[in-house]
Amino acid sequence: YNNYMKMEFYSKSQNEAFARVVVAAFAAQLDPTIEEISDIKTAVSEAVTNAIIHGYEDKSDLITVICRINDQELEIIVEDKGKGIEDIQQAREPLYTSKPELERSGMGFTVMETFMDKVNVYSEIGKGTKVTMIK
Ligand code: ATP
Ligand code: MG
Repeated sequence: YNNYMKMEFYSKSQNEAFARVVVAAFAAQLDPTIEEISDIKTAVSEAVTNAIIHGYEDKSDLITVICRINDQELEIIVEDKGKGIEDIQQAREPLYTSKPELERSGMGFTVMETFMDKVNVYSEIGKGTKVTMIK
């Protein structure tokens, strides 16, 4: 890799904005357009919010974000060690949410897919979830 960074923080809602700003600052070395930076921030927000709300629910535990730059490509990995996703295909469907009572819209993964070039989701029940995104 040309460059690499790893950060770790508690699953608290105020850290969502923090993570998004750090990733955007790291991505700046690729000379992205304003639109690209905005896309990256939006995708990171969705992945980190999911780790906080779904991965750890009411607990507070560690979320890891890794960024790698390879040539002109940025890879972002958002990982939690929380409850995991039972059916990844269903989770990725637009409008699917397991928390309609919290007024979630079920669009997080769809937003990530829209704003990033590639999104992969790895998850195991009781072990956690890893979302990798490439732009
Ligand atoms: P929105 O993002 O629009 O507020 P949402 O979070 O429910 O709503 P998605 O982000 O698309 O929608 O996620 C779909 C579903 O996938 C969630 O409702 C949840 O069940 C599951 N999910 C997503 N991320 C995680 C995670 N990190 N750990 C456990 N489950 C997750
Ligand atoms: Mg979401």
